[in-house]
Amino acid sequence: MEVQVAVLPGDGIGPEVMEATLEVLEKVLRKSPLFFKFKKALVGGSAIDAVGHALPAQTLQLCEESHAILFGSVGGPKWESLPPELQPERAALLPLRRHFSLYANIRPVVLYPELQHVSPLKSEIIGSGVDIVILRELTGDVYFGEPKGRRKLGDEEEAFDTMLYRRYEIERIGHLAFELGRARKKKVHSIDKANVLTSMVFWREVISEIHKNYPDVELHHMYVDNAAMQLIRNPRQFDVILCPNMFGDILSDEASQLSGSLGMLPSASLGVPALWDKNGYRFGLYEPAGGTAPDIAGKGVANPIAQILSAALMLRYSFYLEKEATMIEEAVRRTISQGYRTLDIYAALDNTRKVSTQEMAMAIAANIDFS
Ligand code: NAD
Repeated sequence: MEVQVAVLPGDGIGPEVMEATLEVLEKVLRKSPLFFKFKKALVGGSAIDAVGHALPAQTLQLCEESHAILFGSVGGPKWESLPPELQPERAALLPLRRHFSLYANIRPVVLYPELQHVSPLKSEIIGSGVDIVILRELTGDVYFGEPKGRRKLGDEEEAFDTMLYRRYEIERIGHLAFELGRARKKKVHSIDKANVLTSMVFWREVISEIHKNYPDVELHHMYVDNAAMQLIRNPRQFDVILCPNMFGDILSDEASQLSGSLGMLPSASLGVPALWDKNGYRFGLYEPAGGTAPDIAGKGVANPIAQILSAALMLRYSFYLEKEATMIEEAVRRTISQGYRTLDIYAALDNTRKVSTQEMAMAIAANIDFS
């Protein structure tokens, strides 16, 4: 069976870490039961430079024809002077999420024991590592709720966004959270601000109703301000953290620091089953949690692990290749334990060696174990 992946490297470090990822994929897919076609297209600032638009029609068409999208990252100082609606993130990434109804963003946050020293938290707090999944609702809330706008009121001026959730939006992300929880440690923390916001009272109500279908999974409700504190104070209490869009945006960046570097964190954005699915494969967009890192772009020092682990999530969630996904994750684990470090996770310790983006990818590919 032939399957197709739209590869959109984007800007800044995007092309560097994508190249590294394709190398690892090439190795792991050698014995795959599926034949993969990877087709590249322009997106973001590089697309603006080439054809004048961050999400060209040909790119969107390629995505529509594909089973999944492997995305780098977009944006950078070069395009920051453009009107906001034409800038790469606003004009490419948000429309892609909306077009494909990618409502569920899954971000695993893992701190490997060997990288304890790069986490800003004390070792008594971090313990032997962290393993959390943040599930962020991605197509609702204040980012998409209407009305939004600005208006003059006599001498005064105001601007507004609407925090809005429909029942079906909360239900579908709730089901996914409990299914994820069921496959892990059977514990879900649902984050809200139900003490103040009407939409969040509704969120809590609907999540509690959905929970009745999953009596084997513990549910804890937590206010977002408390969650922000608890992530730093006692991160090991969490397993699956379910968040509305805006709170998830903020908490997932906070949580990213637990792993020591944005360069370690992958993500998967999944769509509504069957809407864009083809031949039984689930459509999704897979990208690193970080951005284009303009401060290190072009230097060959970016950490490719976030992009490589995003590719592993793609094999797992879109193509149901659990064995191959695990092989990549194990290869990353082994490579870290062998002491390979890109600049962002490097500390001069006896058993570590500083490597480039390419060298890290080669080490991971070499650690793919087919046995
Ligand atoms: P950033 O994530 O690009 O960088 C923040 C810090 O993390 C930088 O010091 C960077 O060097 C480091 N970093 C990030 N990824 C790394 C990696 N793989 N290896 C090593 N270090 C890494 O965030 P920013 O500086 O706020 O944004 C830069 C640009 O990226 C902006 O234009 C922003 O709009 C864009 N951005 C895009 C996305 C996306 O495409 N999904 C997400 C966030 C930011």
